[in-house]
Amino acid sequence: MAGVSTQRVADTVDASTQLFCRVGEFLRDNHLSPDPLHYAFAYRVLTDTQGPLARAVAHLTDGGVSLSRRDIENLGGEIGALAAPTPTEAMALAKSDGLVAQTLLQVEGFADMMQAMRTDTAGFSRDLAASANEIRRSHETVAVDEVVRITTRMLDRVNVAETRLEAATHEAAELRTKLEEARANARRDPLTDLPNRRAVEEAYAARSKAGDHVCLAVCDIDHFKTVNDRFGHSIGDRVLKAIGEALRQGCEGHMVARYGGEEFAILFVGVTREAALATLENAREAVAAKRYRLRESDEPLGAVTFSAGLTIAKPEEVFGTVFARADRLLYTAKDAGRNLSKAG
Ligand code: GH3
Ligand code: MG
Ligand code: MG
Repeated sequence: MAGVSTQRVADTVDASTQLFCRVGEFLRDNHLSPDPLHYAFAYRVLTDTQGPLARAVAHLTDGGVSLSRRDIENLGGEIGALAAPTPTEAMALAKSDGLVAQTLLQVEGFADMMQAMRTDTAGFSRDLAASANEIRRSHETVAVDEVVRITTRMLDRVNVAETRLEAATHEAAELRTKLEEARANARRDPLTDLPNRRAVEEAYAARSKAGDHVCLAVCDIDHFKTVNDRFGHSIGDRVLKAIGEALRQGCEGHMVARYGGEEFAILFVGVTREAALATLENAREAVAAKRYRLRESDEPLGAVTFSAGLTIAKPEEVFGTVFARADRLLYTAKDAGRNLSKAG
C-alpha cells in the first residue's frame, strides 16, 4: 500500500516539475520575462492545450513568431481576468458591487415586510373568525365592539405597512438608477465619454455569439508623445477628446471606444469590410484635415493624424485574436509612413 501511495506522490511531483519546466520553456521560447502576468498566461496555455487560449496562441505563433507582451494582454483581456481593470474601472465596479449588495439587502427587507404583513393578516383573520363565532353564539354587543377594535388595529397596521412600502419602493427606484449609472460608468471612459475597453470587448462577444458579421478597427494617434512633449499633458488630453469626438461623428452608427492610452477601437457590425474601410478612411481624412489651435492663445497645434488597422472577425473568433490581427495591420500602416489605414 505504502509503495503505491509513494509512487503516486512521485508521479504528482514529476507532473508538477514537468509543467514547471514547460512553463519555463514557453517563456524562454517567446522571450518573455518570468513575471506573474507572463507566468500565469503560460500556465493557462499549457494546462489547457486544446482550450481557446492555447488555440489562439498556436495561431499567433504559427510560423515561428514569438508572442509579445501586447499579444498576451490582448488575449488575456478576452479569455480571463488577466488584464486588471484600470483604477477608474475598478472604482466603478466596486461601486456597482456595493450597490448590488445594498439592493440585495433591500430585497431581503421587502421579504421581511411582506412576511410581517402576512403574519398580521393571518392573526387578523383568526381574531375576526373568533369574534364572528362569538357574535353568532351570544348576540352580545361586546362581541361587535371586539370586531371594531380588531379591525381598527388591523387598519392602523395596514397604514403603517403601506407607508413603509412606499418609502421602500422609492428607495428601490433610486437604487436601481444608481446601479444603472454605476454599470454604465464601469463601461465608459471618463476623459472622452466614449465606451471603454470593457464595453467594446463585451459588445464584440455579444455580436460574435449572435453570429453577426463584425469588422474591428484599431486606431492609434501618430506621434502623440510629441503633442504631450510640446504642449503638455492636459493639452494632449484635449486633443484625445477632440479626436475621439471626430471618430465618433465620422463613424456614426458604429461603436467607437477608447481602448486605452491614445488608441481607439471601432466595431463595425453588419457591413462589409469595404464599407467599413470607406467609413474609417473618411474619418481619418477628416481628422487629418483639421488644424487644431490652442483655445487660450490661438497658437496652432498643427495637424494630428492617426493610423489604423481593420480586419474581419471570423466566426467564433475570440476578441484577442481579432484585435491582435488588427493591431498588426495598424503597425504595418505605421511602418508605411503613418496617417494610413491598412485592411486585411
Ligand atoms: P506612434 O506614432 O508610433 O504611435 O507614436 P506615439 O508617440 O503616438 O506612441 P508612443 O507609444 O511612443 O506614445 C504614446 C503616448 O501617448 C505616450 C503617452 O504619454 C500618451 N498618452 C497615453 N494616454 C494618454 C492620456 O490619457 N493623455 C495624454 N495626454 N497622453 C496620453
Ligand atoms: Mg499607442
Ligand atoms: Mg501612437
